[in-house]
Amino acid sequence: MKVGDKQLFLGMTSDISRKKAVERQKEERFIARLTRSNEELKKARVEAEAAVVAKSEFLANMTHELRTPLNSVVGFAGLLAKSSDLNAKNRRFAEIITSSSQALLALVNDILDISSLDADAVRLHPVVFSLPKLVEDVVASVSLMADEKNLQLKIEKGAAVGEAHFGDPVRLHQVLLNLVNNAVKFTSEGGVVVAISAAEPPGSDQHLRIAVRDTGIGISPEQVKSIFQRFTQADSSIHSRYGGTGLGLAISQRLVELMGGEIGVDSVEGEGTTVWVELTLPCEDARALADEDRADILQAAGSSSRVLVVDDVDLNRDLVAALLAPQGYVVSEATGGAEAIEAVKTGNYDIVLMDVQMPEVDGLQATRAIRAMDGFADLPIIAMTAQALASQWETCREAGMNDHLPKPITPVTLMAMMSKWTDGAPRVDDDNSGALDKLGGSSA
Ligand code: ADP
Repeated sequence: MKVGDKQLFLGMTSDISRKKAVERQKEERFIARLTRSNEELKKARVEAEAAVVAKSEFLANMTHELRTPLNSVVGFAGLLAKSSDLNAKNRRFAEIITSSSQALLALVNDILDISSLDADAVRLHPVVFSLPKLVEDVVASVSLMADEKNLQLKIEKGAAVGEAHFGDPVRLHQVLLNLVNNAVKFTSEGGVVVAISAAEPPGSDQHLRIAVRDTGIGISPEQVKSIFQRFTQADSSIHSRYGGTGLGLAISQRLVELMGGEIGVDSVEGEGTTVWVELTLPCEDARALADEDRADILQAAGSSSRVLVVDDVDLNRDLVAALLAPQGYVVSEATGGAEAIEAVKTGNYDIVLMDVQMPEVDGLQATRAIRAMDGFADLPIIAMTAQALASQWETCREAGMNDHLPKPITPVTLMAMMSKWTDGAPRVDDDNSGALDKLGGSSA
């Protein structure tokens, strides 16, 4: 290499290494910036997650505060509306209070649900259940509304659908009730069909499709796109004409996703809508249902089980007692945890219904104390709580409680729980008018 060439070469290499150094510096600055923004993102995410949890806890507490008084309003208004000593006008007032308070309660429940789903606090509780029976129950609960509108209401069951599946019937009921309720609500002529089908024969996993078809107002293609978003209704006239909050489908979608399934809509405006759910559930042998059937609240009759109702709020105790006594249960009451522990020692109870939040000795402490006593390991203790978050039920279970009765307590949920945990379950009596009289003249 000539001298000139060598200098040129050296000059070029130092140029290259300068450039490289500059590139490296740029790269390092870039990486430092990236690391910084990554950390900021992480921090923001942690903050956002904490905010969601705080919001969900706030809402859970708020809904508890709202549900406790609503519990009494719904329960007593229902009893009052059935009382025999009301004149027509006052009965109408009681019915309006009942339906308005139930609507308010549905809204409070929806808000609690969506905030629990947001906080990932909803857990499924899979058990063996009958899907055909669940669909029948859902359809039965909207049949009155369908009758009033002169609509046909039909179930179509594919031959392959098994009798016993393993899944969360409470949440599936919630989803299907919302879909069937919407179908009836948005249909004024024709009817609603709930079609269930399975892709495989019963025996192992079944890929199930549950389609709710109506001949109602339909949804435009534009509106279909956003129908699963929360607080979304097809158009602004819907709320004034049909009411509702626009939360039902958002909750349904989240629940179906939690079950590993899919939900979708096919609709033609002016002709009708099909909302379908597809999910895969293990299909059990029908014999597995036997236990469940034994607990069927409508079949068994008569009970003289001894029940201890523990609640610091007089009205709550009175309501439970008023519902149980006419069914033959022998009801005693305790106003707090300490009193409950003493009562259990001598009362020979078959079951304890225990409020969780009480001053001084709360339901959890009382349960732990009872479990620590000799001979009370198997006494059914049922938590009564308005806080429906999964983690709260976990705490109850850890304290030794057997099951959980969400407030507000309704005759059906209460009787179902009683028949599940005591022998010889009573019949569910539609007419609870007698119950109110036992409260000592509150019907006057
Ligand atoms: P809500 O019924 O409480 O308003 P949803 O989330 O269940 O809330 O439904 C959202 C909207 O979707 C409804 O307001 C309505 O506009 C539309 N929609 C749902 N189901 C149907 C249906 N079967 N037919 C027509 N429109 C429906």
